[in-house]
Amino acid sequence: MKCLDCGYETDINQKIITCPRCGGLLEIKVKLKGFSFSNLKGRGVWRYKDAIPGNYSKIVSINEGNTPLIPSRIYKQTFYKFEGANPTGSFKDRGMTVAVSSAVNTGYKVVAAASTGNTAASAAAYASRAGLRIYLVLPKGKVALGKLAQSILYGATILEVNGSFDIAMASVMRLYKDLGIVYPLNSFNPWRLEGQKTIAYEIAEEIGEPDNVIVPVGNAGNIYAIWKGFTELQEAGVISKIPRMIGIQAEGAAPIAKAIEKGLNEPEFFENPETIATAIRIGKPVNWKKAIKAIRSSKGTALSVSDQEIIDAQKKLAREEGIGAEPASAAALAGYEKAINEGIVDKDQKNVLILTGHALKDPDAMLRLDARRILINPEHIENIVLGEINDNN
Ligand SMILES: *Cc1c(COP(=O)(O)O)cnc(C)c1O
Ligand SMILES: [Zn+2]
Repeated sequence: MKCLDCGYETDINQKIITCPRCGGLLEIKVKLKGFSFSNLKGRGVWRYKDAIPGNYSKIVSINEGNTPLIPSRIYKQTFYKFEGANPTGSFKDRGMTVAVSSAVNTGYKVVAAASTGNTAASAAAYASRAGLRIYLVLPKGKVALGKLAQSILYGATILEVNGSFDIAMASVMRLYKDLGIVYPLNSFNPWRLEGQKTIAYEIAEEIGEPDNVIVPVGNAGNIYAIWKGFTELQEAGVISKIPRMIGIQAEGAAPIAKAIEKGLNEPEFFENPETIATAIRIGKPVNWKKAIKAIRSSKGTALSVSDQEIIDAQKKLAREEGIGAEPASAAALAGYEKAINEGIVDKDQKNVLILTGHALKDPDAMLRLDARRILINPEHIENIVLGEINDNN
């Protein structure tokens, strides 16, 4: 394990989450030995356990991962990795199975997470599965309905703060760093990213290495985790190159995209992040350093898209591809189309869009879309349908 801030190095130790010397972000270095897809057993995240360091005598799993890679109907060579098919409906489950298993194997009894919603739903499910007590810190009134409902269903204690996700995050830091009373399940916990990197392993096993991987970016852990997975496979000679990582943010919460655009070494944070895509409404991404490393070293980039572009992309995914994804996930398609138009990616290359969460997470966003709902007299149903069929002919 190595600190990205001060360079501190230590042997693999599951009890360590942030740098013991400076509190910075840790990277977990993995060197695969004799790794081959043909030797693997099982399905989902733990199929790749040879690539996940640490002791997992007890694994807390709800059969996460093994999500469908769906070919696009409208872009040839383009695939959607549909993470909405995970047990709680987002990719967060991949990280949670590893982080909660780590918590259990190192003896923790209380876990906590700040969340825009999906981390909360996932952490609550895995804490239940493990029999741990869980505290969720949520920005009051800013969590999508489906995610809040899930957190309630799984029985978590919900602590609400007035303010944004970034304030919720600071509160969890206080419980973890200052007081040392909880095991943190946010993505500054590098063990979570060890689970999330299996997105790359699954893609590579199914179709080899893509040219571009397009990822919505909020706290910025996932784009790094996916890049890390591809990097490990490339270093082991399993794939021949690392795809370009293309991060997509919403215009109202785009510190990483702005930093890449302006060539800054450090992002300028957004004090009041705003976007319809609540899962990426984050002004101060805790993993910014990791994300910028993944983007720059893969020769990728980051772009921002407007809320209107996100809404249009959510509709297009549903109405032209048959895939229901939440707004933050649809940002990947909005950004992909922008990248094609700007000549940043070639639509005829092999491209994968990460659809991070399920449409059902945010029913309010769906209900605001234009709908064809017509009150009819059932005895005259043919009037409308026959009329329309004839008009179209
Ligand atoms: C968490 C989440 C993201 C952002 O992932 P980060 O690792 O925080 O960048 C994007 N979309 C959805 C649906 C999420 O739940
Ligand atoms: Zn350090």
